[in-house]
Amino acid sequence: TYEKQLDDAIAFMREGDRFLVVSHVQPDGDAISSTVVVCWLLRHFGKQVNMINESPVPIKLTFMEDTASIHNYSLQPPTETYDRIIAVDCADFRRIGLVSGSFAEGAVLLNIDHHPTNDGFGAVNVIRTDAAATVEILYDLMEYAGIVLDKEAATAIYTGLLTDTGGFRYSNTTPRVMNVASSMLVKGVPGHWIANHLLERMTKPQLLLLQRGLNGLTFSEDNRIAWLYISVADMAETGAIGDDLEGLVNYALNVEGVEVGILFKETENGQVKVSMRSSGKADVSAIAQLFGGGGHVRAAGCRLEGVIADSISSLINAVRKALEE
Ligand code: 5GP
Ligand code: MN
Ligand code: MN
Repeated sequence: TYEKQLDDAIAFMREGDRFLVVSHVQPDGDAISSTVVVCWLLRHFGKQVNMINESPVPIKLTFMEDTASIHNYSLQPPTETYDRIIAVDCADFRRIGLVSGSFAEGAVLLNIDHHPTNDGFGAVNVIRTDAAATVEILYDLMEYAGIVLDKEAATAIYTGLLTDTGGFRYSNTTPRVMNVASSMLVKGVPGHWIANHLLERMTKPQLLLLQRGLNGLTFSEDNRIAWLYISVADMAETGAIGDDLEGLVNYALNVEGVEVGILFKETENGQVKVSMRSSGKADVSAIAQLFGGGGHVRAAGCRLEGVIADSISSLINAVRKALEE
């Protein structure tokens, strides 16, 4: 049962005294928020804790306390290893990326996640697929353990909820999500400031990138699929960084009649990173899984290798097929 999972997770945190907290590569708001909340919890239990991510913390998320302590593995692989690991917001082991290089031989892992595609890769697993965000599960855990959170932890929980629900708008915005968010506001979380900072404000390169992306916006014959392509040159010439891709794919999905929006992003090593968003008609996580990726019904991703033009058309064909079913 879920309560048994929460008990086991709490026992996992109480045992041992040195922990590593990890999340997925190219972390989003929920990944970073969950990382700092677990760190907060472990410190609350009097534990020693380090946080490492393969990628840097997106600049927009650095307003949260403790994000500066999340070590960027790619910048400098740490030499120490850890034998108690907590992975948050990771659907499978591969999402941890290079940070698994910091796991000691025989390390034990606690996996806390909300992705329906989660394969239960931990020794202990807390998986609730109807949670809007991993931070919602962490809130369950704190509520269950009777832990009173402070404004800092509340800010992270609020941020994870806000970002994974697209500003409390996606279908995962349940009454429970609003209740949890409300209790966070009671703690003094500046909800309006966070929403403006994360959802409204854009960097100039971000807007220039949007301009280029829209220039190349393409529709399928029936207008049910729309896609954007961003090249390495687009990034360089606008001065954009990875963070500036945030939200771009929604412009493709948000067109009236479109059921699946896709962003193809050329990577430095000649691959293409695919971001898919669905209105709900097609399960994009199932499509992503065909190409070695995963995610949720309405938001999923994968990477394409080989002859890129061919892989792109076979992915679009897979989307067409999914929409015909
Ligand atoms: P995004 O399009 O924002 O990169 O990712 C949307 C969702 O798809 C993420 O929350 C994540 O669950 C999933 N996702 C994206 N890329 C990958 C991938 O390469 N592998 C897997 N397993 N999931 C991915
Ligand atoms: Mn995530
Ligand atoms: Mn999440």
